[in-house]
Amino acid sequence: MKDCIFCKIADHSIPSMTVYEDEYTIAFMDTAKDVDGHILVIPKTHAHNILDCDNYTLSQLISAVKKVSCHLVENCGFEGVNLLNASGESAGQSVQHFHIHVIPRKSGDRINAWPHFDGAKEDIEDVFKKIIIK
Ligand code: AMP
Repeated sequence: MKDCIFCKIADHSIPSMTVYEDEYTIAFMDTAKDVDGHILVIPKTHAHNILDCDNYTLSQLISAVKKVSCHLVENCGFEGVNLLNASGESAGQSVQHFHIHVIPRKSGDRINAWPHFDGAKEDIEDVFKKIIIK
């Protein structure tokens, strides 16, 4: 998509530190420099986020996420990963091309990659009745 920075990374019209690439996906270093080994995995075809991504592209994307994650653990000295995704501006999505963050983890790394929520506002049964898929 025109003017999408991640589409430009996907078609190599702007450079990235590409960690892995196949026909459908590309994985590259997140330039935030916030966590060692922070990687973004994206589909090459433009989807805004998980809400509009077709299932085939999604399956290719999650396969690439698995490949990258296993590589980090099997070959790069990490022990686990956090997978993060923001779908929608209310969720904190800042780049409007679907991406999954892979955060490599080691015991004792003191990375705060798991949110500490303030507590639910509504009764769990009421929420359950609203969101159950019928
Ligand atoms: P999100 O807030 O989940 O949409 O994450 C967007 C991520 O994209 C941030 O972590 C940014 O650091 C990262 N980012 C933005 N532009 C680039 C770029 N050109 N190359 C690599 N990472 C980028």
